[in-house]
Amino acid sequence: MPFAITASCCSDAQCVSVCPVGCIHPAPGEPGFGTSEILHIDPAACIDCGACADACPVNAIFPVDKLAGPDREYAEINASYYTDHDDVPPGRAPYPFVPRLRAGLRVAVVGTGPAGMYTVRDLLGRTECEITVFDALPTPGGLLRSGVAPDHPETKRIQHGFDLALRHPRVRFVGGVEVGRDVSIADLEGAFDAVFLASGARRPRRLGVPGEDSPGVVPALDVVTWAGGVPGRDSSPIPELGSAGTARAVIVGTGNVALDVARLLTLRPEDLGRTDAADRALDVLRARPIRDVVVLGRGDSSRAAYTQAEFRTLHHVPGLEVRVVEADAPFVDSPPPTETRVTFLFGSSISRVDGDGPLTVHLDRAGDGTALAADLLVTSIGHDVEPFDELHHDPSGALRHDAGRVRPGLYATGWLKRGATGGIGANRACAQESVDSFLRDATDDALPPRAAERADLLARLKKSGAVVDLRGARAIDRRERLDGERVGRPRVKITSLDELLATARRRAPRR
Ligand code: NAP
Repeated sequence: MPFAITASCCSDAQCVSVCPVGCIHPAPGEPGFGTSEILHIDPAACIDCGACADACPVNAIFPVDKLAGPDREYAEINASYYTDHDDVPPGRAPYPFVPRLRAGLRVAVVGTGPAGMYTVRDLLGRTECEITVFDALPTPGGLLRSGVAPDHPETKRIQHGFDLALRHPRVRFVGGVEVGRDVSIADLEGAFDAVFLASGARRPRRLGVPGEDSPGVVPALDVVTWAGGVPGRDSSPIPELGSAGTARAVIVGTGNVALDVARLLTLRPEDLGRTDAADRALDVLRARPIRDVVVLGRGDSSRAAYTQAEFRTLHHVPGLEVRVVEADAPFVDSPPPTETRVTFLFGSSISRVDGDGPLTVHLDRAGDGTALAADLLVTSIGHDVEPFDELHHDPSGALRHDAGRVRPGLYATGWLKRGATGGIGANRACAQESVDSFLRDATDDALPPRAAERADLLARLKKSGAVVDLRGARAIDRRERLDGERVGRPRVKITSLDELLATARRRAPRR
């Protein structure tokens, strides 16, 4: 029985590298790799060995006769890829460049989200370097810990492989250190042979319309980090709504983040209560303050930014009605007749927002000037890079680099390098390219000499008192999981920075 890949595919292609018959496509280097929503197994070529399922970090691969519920349609989705693409070449991951480097190289990686951790794994596999990994938070994981939607636990499984990398004897985790605040890029370049920046793109784009700064208008990042448990993001982005029962949120943008927010707002309390959403968000969302969500797309539905896999997932949210109003169709504004409803309203641009509580969202929509009453407006229109003072950015804010090389010894990877686009798996190939650039510089003797001692820098950082090592991070992880076990959840996140640090300190640091 052939295997099939399902919606939670992360496209990092670990399955491709273990498939003995090369029947998973698009593979790295093939057209469509990095942009296709999921990878696909050719049912005619699959030999049913299960190697791909074992290697899959997100548990997305099953024999087709074991597909259940909404996953059943993925047998056909995998197969139809091959009827639609009759020119699929045999898939083989390109052989990575593994040079002989001088001994004792020390590398810093800034950021422990997928971009940073794929970089760590690639460096571990291709070099003998010692790697120091920094994160601004005491907990590793970045986007995987706090950005992936709480109802997508299968995606978070990818963290397991990253945790193993963090425990590698050549890797040291230094949490609670923010580059730009606690240490400069120049400090890091002085103490390490190479520095990889993987700090993402965290500046929400602005709509640029009047009324955008009204109370009740929030960027999706505020909702995501609040529900994701990021310390310091305690205030609820959802206004107090009384008992109206059918309060409405409007979300601008049709990317996967918009869909994550739409599901978060409309999940049944019992489903939400099984997730690792932060308690502060559960307390608010369980009361279901929002019953009606309208997602605005500027173009028609064929231009929507969400992936079909995520759009399909929305249709399987219990009790949720999904309504699509095409750009050229009239919009009939009515309260949801069902428990909860998400309406995709295409061909709609916001021209102005009025009000400071209940909002009126004015739309340009096929010239008919529709206005929507809303209690919350979430802007989910993408993110830009937060510029580093020490680096060159284009006027658009994008970091200047060549194949990840900012300058010899300094590299970027992930959303900081490519802009805020692409799912988790896209970071694997992106990291490999940046590591390639580093390896070329190292073999060409182009890395600048170290001017300072790593130990001195780390000692200085430790003196600040807020630094957490891997033992501390694991103590936090254990405590959160134990608390979760008691209430049937994956974990109960600690969201107070003081409590995170206190939990980390309860575990005496290794001498
Ligand atoms: P995105 O996919 O780039 O979508 C941004 C949306 O904002 C688009 O619909 C865009 O519309 C709209 N937009 C931009 N400027 C606008 C404006 N001024 N007015 C109105 N609409 C505007 O961004 P994202 O949702 O933040 O996701 C970022 C990346 O993360 C994506 O690659 C996404 O697939 C990935 N991601 C994946 C998952 C998952 O796999 N489950 C989950 C979350 C995120 P136009 O097309 O009209 O410009």
